[in-house]
This record gives sequence, structure tokens and C-alpha cells, in this order.
Amino acid sequence: MVSVNSRIVEIETIILDLPTIRPHSLSMVTMSGQSMTIVCVRCADGFEGIGEGTTIGGLSYGPESPEGMKLTIDQYIAPLLVGQDASRVQLLMDRVSAAVKGNHFAKCAVEAALLDCHARRLGLPLSDLLGGRRRDSLPVAWTLASGDTARDIDEAQAMIDRRRHKDFKLKIGRRSIDADVRHVAEIRKALPDFASVRVDVNMAWREREAVRAVAALADAGCVLVEQPVAGISSLARLSRASSIAIMADEVLVGPESALEAVMARAGDVFSIKIEQAGGLFAAAKVIAIAEAAGVSIYGGTMLEGPVGTIAAAQLMAGVKDLRWGTEFFGPLLLSEEILEEPLVFADFELKLPSGPGIGIALDKAAVERFRRDAKPASSLRVVG
Ligand SMILES: [Mg+2]
Repeated sequence: MVSVNSRIVEIETIILDLPTIRPHSLSMVTMSGQSMTIVCVRCADGFEGIGEGTTIGGLSYGPESPEGMKLTIDQYIAPLLVGQDASRVQLLMDRVSAAVKGNHFAKCAVEAALLDCHARRLGLPLSDLLGGRRRDSLPVAWTLASGDTARDIDEAQAMIDRRRHKDFKLKIGRRSIDADVRHVAEIRKALPDFASVRVDVNMAWREREAVRAVAALADAGCVLVEQPVAGISSLARLSRASSIAIMADEVLVGPESALEAVMARAGDVFSIKIEQAGGLFAAAKVIAIAEAAGVSIYGGTMLEGPVGTIAAAQLMAGVKDLRWGTEFFGPLLLSEEILEEPLVFADFELKLPSGPGIGIALDKAAVERFRRDAKPASSLRVVG
């Protein structure tokens, strides 16, 4: 169905710098704010779509930065798309992929904006365009990342009391293994039985020490260890040696790597990140490969704001085996609201919006307030 009205007339890319509620410590960096690259696709018939590219801690996690994404989109991707029919999403992304190698996060932001726009034009929630929902809300784990045991326990207990989260992921790998295991054991002991404790090591361990550490974590009551070591073969050997679930995250950078991982039997669970996979279509392929191999699915996060989070949630709504839930708490880390209608997190789950497209709208005043190019030059130095 080709229509001159669905012609793309403009692609705008804006970087938003937002404050966060607290520092967020990972094995490679401590984040004190979040920057997101927002892509807006506008068509001749007035339909628009939004997408988000967000990284963890600038360039410390991966090869793309908010500034790099904006440059890639403005300079290399937008000129390929403006003037084209926005309803041919897959064809447009083929065009982008042929001209731009890598740049998964930037491509994901653009593809999500195109899909949002397409679904809005068809009057469908994005989840319906992707095959229909299996659920209307998603379990959301919370990450305890202060590094301070007592503070983390208080934070977890407060989340349970508010019925916002009952599954907790601890970011470890910066300290000694013994200190980390003690930290995990104390938190596990302090929480009720219906709560769960998982850890993410972000590849900080070597394989030999990881074997010992995973066994100690299992004894401490931890139920899942995310990417304890780097590399598919190490992860595969560790998965075979472990009595608790091992999750693959960083090794999954699209369908080819997912195929390699299932062939090696690396990981019992795959963390699906739409940006890391290279977009929603690529993430759907990773999910299909995992399902074919009997690997469970988990909705991972790049600590995206609401736009990227809900785009991913629209995909996760259709996943069959989502027994480990998601960690779609990125929007909750932001101390400022940027949506016209805030997201609903209740009864330990994130409710999916029901409107067309991704079903959310950015608050224009908030966008103006937080866009980087609206700030005086002197304030740019404190960002990131
Ligand atoms: Mg991870």
C-alpha cells in the first residue's frame, strides 16, 4: 500500500539530558544522570513516530554514545529516509543497513520511530502490529546498585512495601568475590521468601573465579547470574557447571550471535535488549532463536527512558516464555517526568499503554526544558 501521504518529510534527532534519582553503580562506571537520543519521524499526512537511543554511561558500556547516534542519524541515516514511504519499514531499514554498518543503537531508535509511526497510522498498538499481546503488563525487577548492603536492603524493602518490585538484581563485580557474595547473602536473608535476588556481573570475572563465585552465590540463595564472564565459550562452560540459571547479555548483539550462543549452549536465559540486538525486528529474531533452543527470555534494559522502554515492552508483551520477567525500570531512575501521561508501575508490574503505536507521548514542555541544545554552553560541561 504505497501512499504519497505517508512520505517522510522530516527526521529530527534531539539529545535529552535528564537527572536521575540516585547514582547507579555498574562494574564499569557510576552513572549520575542519563542522556537519551530521541528520534522523531514526521510524515506528509501529519503522522509521527518516536524512537529512543540510549546507552549506559556514555561510551563505557558499548561503542555508541548519544552524540555519536545523533551524528549518525542526522548525517547518514536521515538523508536515506526523507522522501521515502514510511510504511515500508523493513525495506527502509534494509536501505539503512546497506549504507550504515554497525550502529545498532542508532538504527534501533530510527526503526522504533518508523514502527511507532506505522502502527499509529494503522490505529494499532505496536504489540498488535508485532503479532498480538500475550499479556497487558510485565513483571519488572529493580536493580540495587548503591553498593552499600544496608542501603540496598532498605531500598528493596521499601519497593516490596509499595508493591512496585519484588525481584532484585544486584550489580556486582567491582569488589572481591568474597565481599560480593557476602553482600548478596545478606540482602537475600533480609528479604521475604517471595522476593528473588539475581546478580549481574557485567563480564567482570575470569572463568576460573566465576566457577567458584557462582557456586557460592547459589549457596547464598541467588537464583540467576547474568553474564559473569566475557565470551560465548566461557559462558557455555559456566552454564554447564552451574546449578543456577546463567543469563547471556553482552554476548548477544543480534541474531547471528544468538545463533552462536544457542549452538554453544551459552546461557539458560537470554537478556533481550532491542538496542543491543539492532532493533525490534532483530530482537524478535533473537527471541525466535532462543525459543527454538528452549532458552528463556528476559526483557533487558539499557536504562532507556520511557520511549525506548515502552518500545521494548510492546515486543515483550508477545513473548511466550517470559518467566524471568523484565528489568524495564529505566524510566523510574529519572527524577523528572517527560511524558504527557506517566507510565503505570503497580502490583510489581509495568502496565502496557493501550493506545496506537507505542502508546505514549512526550511532554513538549519537558522536551524543551531538557534538550541539550536549549542549554547555555557553560552547562554542557557538567553533563555525563
Ligand atoms: Mg546485563
